[in-house]
Amino acid sequence: MFKPTLGIIGGGQLGSMLAIAASKLEIKTVIFCDDIDAPAQKFSNDFVHGQYNDQNKIREFISKVDVVTYEFENIPYETLNEINRIKPVLPKPSINRIIQHRLAEKDFINNLNIRTTRYTSIEKKSEMDSVEDLLPGLLKTVTMGYDGKGQHPVHTLESLDSIDIDYSKGYILEKLVKLKKEISIIITRFSNQKYEIYEPIENVHEDQILRNSKIPAEISDKILNQSKLWATQIAEELKYVGTLCVEFFIDRNDNLYVNEIAPRVHNSGHLTINAYNVSQFENHVRAVCKLEQIPLQKKSNAEMLNIIGDQITHYRNKKFSENEFFFDYLKKDIKDKRKMGHLTTLIS
Ligand code: ADP
Ligand code: MG
Repeated sequence: MFKPTLGIIGGGQLGSMLAIAASKLEIKTVIFCDDIDAPAQKFSNDFVHGQYNDQNKIREFISKVDVVTYEFENIPYETLNEINRIKPVLPKPSINRIIQHRLAEKDFINNLNIRTTRYTSIEKKSEMDSVEDLLPGLLKTVTMGYDGKGQHPVHTLESLDSIDIDYSKGYILEKLVKLKKEISIIITRFSNQKYEIYEPIENVHEDQILRNSKIPAEISDKILNQSKLWATQIAEELKYVGTLCVEFFIDRNDNLYVNEIAPRVHNSGHLTINAYNVSQFENHVRAVCKLEQIPLQKKSNAEMLNIIGDQITHYRNKKFSENEFFFDYLKKDIKDKRKMGHLTTLIS
């Protein structure tokens, strides 16, 4: 079977775990990243360092690979499109363009008759005067946000005067959902109606950053089935190829909402490395490189804990038992609120 060389845009922990999964499948990888210290280069066969709009670097990257994927969504559409004219980019750049824009993403989901929280576009301060029924809410930049970055809670209209917001960036105001729980579904789509779907994962966030994830999620059968159905519909509608994550809210009345879609492997799916026969990373590589689809089998229940900031020092010196799997992302600097590693514990 032909084994393509896989180009991965982005060189953080997701890129590292994709490269590790690829090497197990004897797929060569080339990382393209704007960070000279990108950890993923340690696990890949080749590394191109450059800005994502540097024409020479883009061309160099294209020349080294057969197919291209990405580990984060905030890549200029022009760059993905340009690469896609010469080598296939999967998932397709047009998918990334919808999902990297919070308004386009929510419009897309609602057009499928799938519930999201209520929202509106905000492009200037005066537009906030007529949105009282969306309060309390969250004002989020439409692009470039992650781990809660670019988000402002808005409790009352008066509270807006005390925060400094550059409205020209473009915002979405979302009604705050009274959360009972958050879950996510990871699905890898290979082609029409051909996909592997993982069971729902229950997620706990602190300060808008994922803190821990576990399977099984403690949810009703109705929520389990609806979340799987919605994730499948989203993947089919996008004609998606690769691994996709759908993040959901469950409110206090047990209503399910889609929060957002990630067109990539996802932090909540790290436990699939140890809890399943095929991880979300391996499945992504299999799908984008057109390798064999293998039926998923769950091996164990599991919990994953994100290790954030200087907590990593403790884990680097710790001894682990047989059912614990520690991953150090090997980032050069320890930074506050930065994901530095994770620990997965298998639970029988
Ligand atoms: P990011 O792109 O940073 O992951 P999200 O929109 O997923 O942004 O927000 C991060 C977290 O903030 C969510 O997982 C949830 O815990 C909380 N959050 C975001 N939007 C809402 C909302 N409308 N209602 C309630 N909680 C929210
Ligand atoms: Mg999120």
